[in-house]
Amino acid sequence: MNKVIAIDGVASSGKGAVTKIVAEKLNLTSIDTGSMYRAIALETINKNISIDEVDKIIDIAKNCTIKLDPSGVVYLNGEDVTKYLKTKEVNSIVSQVSSIPEVREILVEQQRKMAEDIDVIMEGRDITTVVFPNTKYKFYLDADVEERAKRRHLQNKELGIDIPYEEVLESIKFRDENDKNKPVGALKRCDDQIYIDTTNMSIDEVVNEIISKVKEIEEESK
Ligand code: C5P
Repeated sequence: MNKVIAIDGVASSGKGAVTKIVAEKLNLTSIDTGSMYRAIALETINKNISIDEVDKIIDIAKNCTIKLDPSGVVYLNGEDVTKYLKTKEVNSIVSQVSSIPEVREILVEQQRKMAEDIDVIMEGRDITTVVFPNTKYKFYLDADVEERAKRRHLQNKELGIDIPYEEVLESIKFRDENDKNKPVGALKRCDDQIYIDTTNMSIDEVVNEIISKVKEIEEESK
């Protein structure tokens, strides 16, 4: 079987940045599954569909094409939508969109296909538990919620997105709550994940920790 490193964790725990660097260092393709749920949420907004119109959202998931370029660019039906995926509007509905079991089923199948023939590092909420429960490499990233809100606030500023800190904090708490309590694909801790609390760690420290654990697991299974 090809190599799959699965990374789950709470919003703004550093998953995205860490995943990209580990991918470069270990020569893996990085896959950000959150951007796929975000793309469906964006299309829901663009088509003026309300979050209660579940059938219409399922139709979007069935009929749209999402392409994740290894550079991080996300294409929705052929159009580069990367810069629209982290807006307040998308943040406010994405966890509800991703709570729809049929939407998850469609995207999980695509995620498994993406990793069929290549070595990947895939990040999300249910990668260790649902998408690739049989991989040997499972990580769960966590951090204090205030620290995560600080990080996201700073990232937003760098992207030119101006959202007050308190609002970022509330939005992260809201998503955490939703993500941990979904009927399907909820973010869960389990015994075979390697748990990393990144609150007081730099990105490089988290990267090094993951790489050293991956090497340990490889050695053990020789
Ligand atoms: O990782 P990111 O914060 O960009 O993900 C956006 C949202 O997509 C999450 O808050 C979660 O609701 C949803 N998601 C999911 N399952 C995944 C990845 C993301 O439900 N595997």
